[in-house]
Amino acid sequence: MSERIIPLHDERTRQARPFVPTPHILAKGLITDQLNRPLRDLRISVTDRCNFRCQYCMPKEVFDSNYKYLPHSDLLSFEEIARLSQLFVNHGVKKLRLTGGEPLLRKNIDILIAQLAHIKTPDASPLDLTLTTNGSLLSKKARALKEAGLKRITVSLDAMSDEVFKLMNDVDYPVQDVLAGIQSAQDVGLGRDALGHFSGLKINMVVKRGTNDQEVLPMVRYFRGKGMSLRFIEYMDVGSTNGWKMQEVLPSSELIERIGKEFDLQALPSNTAGETAKRFGFKNQSGHIDPSLGEIGVISSVTQAFCGDCNRARLSTEGQLYMCLFASKGFDLKSLLRTQASDEEITSAIAHLWGQRSDRYSELRAQQNTGSDMGHPPPGHKRVEMSYIGG
Ligand code: SAM
Ligand code: SF4
Ligand code: SF4
Repeated sequence: MSERIIPLHDERTRQARPFVPTPHILAKGLITDQLNRPLRDLRISVTDRCNFRCQYCMPKEVFDSNYKYLPHSDLLSFEEIARLSQLFVNHGVKKLRLTGGEPLLRKNIDILIAQLAHIKTPDASPLDLTLTTNGSLLSKKARALKEAGLKRITVSLDAMSDEVFKLMNDVDYPVQDVLAGIQSAQDVGLGRDALGHFSGLKINMVVKRGTNDQEVLPMVRYFRGKGMSLRFIEYMDVGSTNGWKMQEVLPSSELIERIGKEFDLQALPSNTAGETAKRFGFKNQSGHIDPSLGEIGVISSVTQAFCGDCNRARLSTEGQLYMCLFASKGFDLKSLLRTQASDEEITSAIAHLWGQRSDRYSELRAQQNTGSDMGHPPPGHKRVEMSYIGG
């Protein structure tokens, strides 16, 4: 039994109905916030449940058999998610990412994907539809996901060594099964681009110094040459349950230095505005970047905040809209949906909420704290759990 007493900030079931401005604000394919940032990316949590207990996300001490998950009636239905997604896309969202909890635990998730794949963008550009998973159910579901219209996928994997992987997931889940899931995704062509590389298949590793940082190089050795993108994420102080310490963050700069000692890397230009990862390609023997070798990326959420370009909103499992990963409150879009609000009213409410947004938590934290204190939230600041609003 752990001695840690972890206060869980329970933001669920808030019911304040968002303000609906009249005359209604119409969708014009672009809305900007107080810092002139457009809304381009919506992350949708489809379940608050997970079959892993990663200590940095859903530690066992808190998410145990007494933990009360949301009842099914509180979750947004597929129809509600699809309806909201279309309204967000009308406002200029270009990317939808399904997440959780573990999104593949949501029953019939392929049906939701098929509904989202039909969404039309205002300028007829293709919608970027993707999903983040721990990979445990991927062997079973890869084909159905692909056939439903999923274009890209991100698989989280924190180690190559079975021992370290089991320590990270804390449910004794073997690494081989996730690797088999990744193989299934490749076999059905999930994330394969026109050149036959798997640029739309990403592997995310959260790096915790002293726990799995020795796995960084084995991960690079394994995935280099497979045409995928391997991304390293700095361990973040999300939520209030993971006992985060700055000493456990491995800064991306140090990580790149370590990888650079063994592999010849070259920085790549960013693909899109608001891209969170700094990307690097592998050079081949003649000194040129070889895309067939794949690439690596680092997401320096703690040591180099990127709030200035943050174009992401998050929709929680029960339909609360969060403007920042570290926000302490959400806005209850479900209450609009379930009180028969019209599309025009919801569109207007979303535009108003985004227009009010000024969140830039990571930048402020970096300015306020330095050294080992860095990452401590301002006194009284409470944060929701990542499994609830989605990563
Ligand atoms: N269960 C799915 C998975 O693990 O991919 C989707 C949800 S999970 C919350 C989304 C992503 O958030 C995962 O890549 C996970 O590793 C990352 N994550 C969770 N807690 C984190 C933390 N404290 N710091 C950095 N990344 C974290
Ligand atoms: Fe589950 Fe993903 Fe959180 Fe791990 S990171 S506990 S797999 S939701
Ligand atoms: Fe975006 Fe908030 Fe993260 Fe800054 S801290 S990048 S505003 S989610």
